Amino acid sequence: MDPFENAKKMIGKVSKEMGLGEKGANLLLSHTQISKAELKVGGKSFPAWRIIHSNALGPGKGGIRYHPDVSEGEVKALSFWMSLKNSLVGLPYGGAKGGIKLNPKELSEEELEEVSRAFVRAFHEKIGQDKDIPAPDVYTTPQIMAWMLDEFEKIKGRKEPGMITGKPLALGGIPLREPATARGGFIVLKELLADKGVKTAETTVAVQGFGNAGSFIAEMCQKDGFKVVAVSDSKGGIHNKEGLDIERLMKVKKEKGAVKAYGGEELSNEQLLELEVDVLVLAALENVVTDENADKVRARYILELANGPVTPEADEVLFGKGIIVIPDILASAGGVAVSYMEWVQNRVGHFFEDSIMEERLDRIMKNGFERVNSKTKEKKVDMRTAAYIVAIERILEAEKLRGNPK
Ligand code: NAD
Repeated sequence: MDPFENAKKMIGKVSKEMGLGEKGANLLLSHTQISKAELKVGGKSFPAWRIIHSNALGPGKGGIRYHPDVSEGEVKALSFWMSLKNSLVGLPYGGAKGGIKLNPKELSEEELEEVSRAFVRAFHEKIGQDKDIPAPDVYTTPQIMAWMLDEFEKIKGRKEPGMITGKPLALGGIPLREPATARGGFIVLKELLADKGVKTAETTVAVQGFGNAGSFIAEMCQKDGFKVVAVSDSKGGIHNKEGLDIERLMKVKKEKGAVKAYGGEELSNEQLLELEVDVLVLAALENVVTDENADKVRARYILELANGPVTPEADEVLFGKGIIVIPDILASAGGVAVSYMEWVQNRVGHFFEDSIMEERLDRIMKNGFERVNSKTKEKKVDMRTAAYIVAIERILEAEKLRGNPK
């Protein structure tokens, strides 16, 4: 199923709630710039996209994904969600996303470098610190950002570290970037649980996806006294109702490449979604909770660190069951909020202390939560609808000030 269809359904639902006219809805449904290329590396050809959904609030901003399932529809949906996410937490950015349809696990290090450089050669006219600023996403790393920066600067003949974020420290990245998405999600989760009067010590957590976002949030939850009882990756999951040792799990995953190597009771990704836990963290891919399995979900709260993991149909089922979903555009905004600080530093050539950036991230996330939570209560809607309303209001205000829609 085309992920942009889900985005369209949400726009339809929110348009009704906001009383948006046809022109406003159409503006949200259209993309500012769609760029596509075929990247030729080692006798193979890989389709690639860079798409700006909106640049009303500022230059495009959003990651680049390397995955065999990448499609134009997926990149369109992801760029739309980036517009909402950036708007919701008050960043001076529009929304964009990129992707290459490939399986990075089947490529050598040299091929991976070559395809990353080919991406920049194909799209260098479209990206840049004032146009559109990429960052990491699924299966893309600080090293890949470094190759891309290097290729871009070679083509342009000048230094421009602010053209990409999520870079290694030696090239202008910042330490907070790696755990930022998880930290942002963790802050909003804690805010919500406090609002509902739930105590951390009694709270059980299951995490789907044990990559950048999933592993850090599992670690943060455990350090704060939550009991992380299950985690999974693409090869399957493990469960222990007494709680898993996340530090050991991170070591196992790094050394053996799969959480299952931790040992103990195994479970499938489907089973993990149906566990009776307080909090289910979705940190893998989109469309994992659908109308087919939503009814079986027994968690009380869902934190969407991944983009689009719950479909609109599933949303209705979960809302009906009283399960609260903290939507992706709020829950996973920590990464881009910290990317923003990296971009600011690169542009002005000044370095802020880590503590200042941590404080700033916490404030951005708490403000975002507050705006969504009050809209949820005011409109008596689910958190996703409220988050969309807050985000869309700001985008359409910027569009209106620019004289759009005509
Ligand atoms: P990652 O590549 O580091 O990790 C992805 C994890 O998901 C891996 O553990 C992988 O094994 C697992 N996975 C893949 N397919 C799976 C499947 N079918 N079932 C279960 N697990 C599966 O990626 P990441 O950066 O952690 O991103 C995860 C999600 O979070 C994505 O949706 C991404 O768009 C979103 N996100 C990430 C960031 C960030 O800063 N890293 C920011 C915002 C949103």
